[in-house]
Amino acid sequence: MARISRVWSREIIDSRATPTVETVVQLDTGHVAVSSVSSSTMNSTGKYKAVDLRDEDEKRFFGYGVLKAVSNVNQILGPKIVGADPTKQAEIDQILISLDGSPNKVKLGANAILSVSQAVLKAAAASNNMPLYKWVNSLAQSISSIDAAQTLRIPAPMFNMINGGLHASGNLDFQEFLIVPATSKPYSEALRSGAEVYHMLEESLSKRGAIHSVGDEGGFAPNLFTNADALAISVEAANTGGYQIGQDFFLGLDVAANNLFRDGSYSVKDQSDAMNSASFASFYEGLAKEYRLTYLEDPLGEDDWDGWIGLTAKLGGKLLVAGDDLLATNPERIKQAIEKKACNAILVKPSQIGTVTETLQVIKQVRAAGWKVIVSQLSRETNDWFIADFAVGVKADYVKFGAPARGERVAKYNRLSSIETELAQQTQ
Ligand code: PGA
Ligand code: ZN
Repeated sequence: MARISRVWSREIIDSRATPTVETVVQLDTGHVAVSSVSSSTMNSTGKYKAVDLRDEDEKRFFGYGVLKAVSNVNQILGPKIVGADPTKQAEIDQILISLDGSPNKVKLGANAILSVSQAVLKAAAASNNMPLYKWVNSLAQSISSIDAAQTLRIPAPMFNMINGGLHASGNLDFQEFLIVPATSKPYSEALRSGAEVYHMLEESLSKRGAIHSVGDEGGFAPNLFTNADALAISVEAANTGGYQIGQDFFLGLDVAANNLFRDGSYSVKDQSDAMNSASFASFYEGLAKEYRLTYLEDPLGEDDWDGWIGLTAKLGGKLLVAGDDLLATNPERIKQAIEKKACNAILVKPSQIGTVTETLQVIKQVRAAGWKVIVSQLSRETNDWFIADFAVGVKADYVKFGAPARGERVAKYNRLSSIETELAQQTQ
């Protein structure tokens, strides 16, 4: 049986020039696994997620350094798991959780803890001679109670084509405008259509002189008159590429509405008057009809429970209403949302909760409620494609890894391509 022989960590930078934690786990068998953690755009992260430890030393990286988190891995977390069997993920994660002892991992840092948890997962897969997605799947069968009989498949991708809100310097209110290829398409075709539409979109936006730059997730960051214009241009671009809305693809939004909520109401550039939750839900209903929206993420603020309940009652039968900031991959928040029928889908992000095991437990919780699962990356990423294997292993319905462009995004999309090839070979 393999044993963990050494754990060490370092500070690296992510796709937005911000420090993050990378941890290495070495086994006595000689296997070495490396994993790094992603993080949210500062201020766009919901307040219910586990806390990343930042140095707050203004002399380094404007206070965002992670040397304390790195030191917590090297001095506290790592030494306590040396000698452990890396295949005992739940036991190891429990040690990490107990060493921190706080409800939101603020003491040692969710970034420190998750980097170790992910690296242990990878090391265990390597020592078992298994691809990571298969190892995740075997853990998910026991911890998430997912169906062992169902064959593995690649989750349907949602591509973030236009970036707004706090993720981009254009003038749109909504954070993500998503193209969702029809779920009946094989992954390779969905990826091709996403990449083609990305190019057509660039052309549509350039023609209007609207491209400003790209945003944090690689989507275009245009200046437009309204948010609805971004949906209309997405449809135009896909049509030019030969794809039909409602047949080949659908549209989705991550509104990240926390940032649109001021003094009890929501303001968007499409409407001259601020809206209450009910009128905002009616506004979405109009968009859903006109633009075939099948997906709405964080359409309302994370504390607007009554608004979410009303919106899900109104639209939940027709589209996915997904909680990201609302739920923060947090079992307590999810329990409330299930009881209140506040949404019908969840963004699963390991970094919001801080260990692999707790993330797997959340998947069990939401599957029991019949929710759809979207496994998501974050706005600040590294080239670690851990999350792609994780999504396949837990049998997510969808993945959301940003635009089909930029190295840290395509690292994940291309990893899915390679898993797709592997799975096809196994069924031959
Ligand atoms: P974040 O955004 O990384 O800033 O949290 C990603 C998302 O909202 O899905
Ligand atoms: Zn989101």
